[in-house]
Amino acid sequence: MTERGHPLNAVVINKVEVAPGLMVLRVAADGWELPEFTPGQFAVLGLPPEAPRWATADPEEKRPKSDRMIRRAYSIASSSVSREYFEFFINMVQSGELTPRLFALATGDRIWLGPKVTGAFTLNEARPNSHLVLVATGTGLAPYMSMLRTKLPATPAQRIAVLLGARHSWDLGYHSELQAMQQQHANLSYLPTISRPDGEVRPWPGRVGYVLEAWRDGAVERAWGFPPTPLTTSVFLCGNPRMIDDMCALLASEGYREHSRGCPGEIFVERYW
Ligand SMILES: Cc1cc2nc3c(=O)[nH]c(=O)nc-3n(C[C@H](O)[C@H](O)[C@H](O)COP(=O)(O)OP(=O)(O)OC[C@H]3O[C@@H](n4cnc5c(N)ncnc54)[C@H](O)[C@@H]3O)c2cc1C
Repeated sequence: MTERGHPLNAVVINKVEVAPGLMVLRVAADGWELPEFTPGQFAVLGLPPEAPRWATADPEEKRPKSDRMIRRAYSIASSSVSREYFEFFINMVQSGELTPRLFALATGDRIWLGPKVTGAFTLNEARPNSHLVLVATGTGLAPYMSMLRTKLPATPAQRIAVLLGARHSWDLGYHSELQAMQQQHANLSYLPTISRPDGEVRPWPGRVGYVLEAWRDGAVERAWGFPPTPLTTSVFLCGNPRMIDDMCALLASEGYREHSRGCPGEIFVERYW
C-alpha cells in the first residue's frame, strides 16, 4: 500500500494488546535508519484512509478524504540507546480516525513513520540534578518509559517519582517493568493509582483515586521522606489535558511555575489532545 508521495516506509514488527483498547506497537524502518532522538520526544505515525478499521471500533460516518494520509503524533516509549525499532504505547479512541486503523494492524503490516522526531518534553529542559516527579494518566506514561529505559539519573541523591493514574489495574501499562526498576534503583519510586477499584478481578492492594489526589495527599513526600518543593523538584505532566490543567492549578498554588523556553519554570507539560 502506498500513499501519493508517502510510501509506507516502515513495518510493524510486534503488536501486543496489553489490555482491551491498549497496545504496545513496535515499528521498524524499512530501508532507512531511524533518527537519533532525546527521550520524551515524539514521532508521527500514519495510515491511508483505505486501511481497515478495528472491528469493534465505531463505524465511520464519512471516510477521511482519500488523498491524504491520516497522521498523528505518538511519544516514543523505547530507549534512545537502541534504534532497531520505535516502541509506542497507544490507546484506542473508538470514534477516532487513526487509532482504530492502528489497532487493526498485524505483525508484518506496513505503516508510515515520519522520519523526523521532535518535541521539547525532555529532561534536558529541567534544572540539572533537580528531583523529578513524572506524572501521567494512561498512555501519557510513554515518554517516561523512554526516559527511564534510557538512563536513570546517575546521582543516587536525585529522587524520581512516577505518579501513574489509570482506571483499572490492567490499564497500568508497564506495571511489572516499573516495579522491577523500582527494586533495582533505590532513588526511583513507582506510585500507581487506580480510579475504578470496583471492577477489579482481585482486590487492588494499592492506592485508589486520581493522581492529583495522590499528590495532594503527600504520596511523593512519603515515598521520598521529604517534601518536593519548587526549589528542589521538576514536575512533568503528560496525557489527559484535564489532569494537566488540574495539576497545573494545584502546583501553581504551591509556587510551581509552568516552564517555557523564554520563561524557566518547574512544570513541564505534554498535552495529548
Ligand atoms: C505530542 C503528542 C504525543 C502523543 N503521544 C501519544 C501516545 O504516546 N499514545 C497515545 O495513545 N496517544 C498519543 N497522542 C494522541 C494521538 O496523537 C492521537 O490524538 C490519538 O491517538 C487519537 O487519534 P485518533 O485519530 O484515533 O482520534 P481523532 O480522530 O484525532 O480524535 C481525537 C479526539 O478524541 C478524543 N480523545 C479521547 N481520548 C483520547 C486520547 N487518548 N488521545 C487523543 N484524543 C483522545 C479527544 O477529544 C480528541 O479531540 C499524542 C499526542 C500528541 C500531541
